[in-house]
Amino acid sequence: MERLKKRWQRCEDLKTKVRRITLLLEKQYGIPRRERSGDPLDILIGTILSQNTNDRNRDKAYQRLRTRFPHWEDVLEARTRSIVSAIRPGGLAGQKARRIHEILHWIKEREEKVSLVFLKKMGFEEIKKTIGALKGIGPKTLHCLLLFGLGREAFPVDTHILRIGKRVGLLPEWMGAEKAHAWIVPFLPKGKCLSLHLNLIRFGRSVCKARKPQCHICFLTKECLHPMK
Ligand code: SF4
Repeated sequence: MERLKKRWQRCEDLKTKVRRITLLLEKQYGIPRRERSGDPLDILIGTILSQNTNDRNRDKAYQRLRTRFPHWEDVLEARTRSIVSAIRPGGLAGQKARRIHEILHWIKEREEKVSLVFLKKMGFEEIKKTIGALKGIGPKTLHCLLLFGLGREAFPVDTHILRIGKRVGLLPEWMGAEKAHAWIVPFLPKGKCLSLHLNLIRFGRSVCKARKPQCHICFLTKECLHPMK
């Protein structure tokens, strides 16, 4: 009983800490507005292109793909090597092109058209089961689709969030990104996924950088457990 009580207390403490951090970030950066969700398929392909690369290369690859193939049906009909050449700036072009092709085929076979709009009618768990089972769609890609393409409360954990989460004690040191998605969910304040996600990324790019965290200008020092702070 005592152990259970302690565990419960630890969960409550962590929830409070996440809430405090969310508010401090909002005070500093504001509350990001939820714009109209993008088209779910655009978001999904964009997120696949973002795997293992930075935003600049992702955007370049995405723009080249859309310029060469204005409709997703065009990508479906294209040869894999043409897709590879279009998305080359994003890296891992061969693997990404195969995955994109396979996913578009799967959608066409299922829906008889190349669109993910059918997901809008599904519940959270059903989407996870349907889309999360496809090759090339890991937890981060799935959560990006849920948050940005379908307007759901989901929390993608990217490298910035994983790093900061560990430094400030939201995530255990040993945890990888795959596990972190499911682990963090019970501690997130309701309705704050988008805000916390976007503000943490902004914080990670400008203050809590990977190599040289700017601890001297940091407004989260009180929350931080990092030995270098
Ligand atoms: S004190 Fe330093 S390590 Fe800790 S959150 Fe701030 S910038 Fe990151």
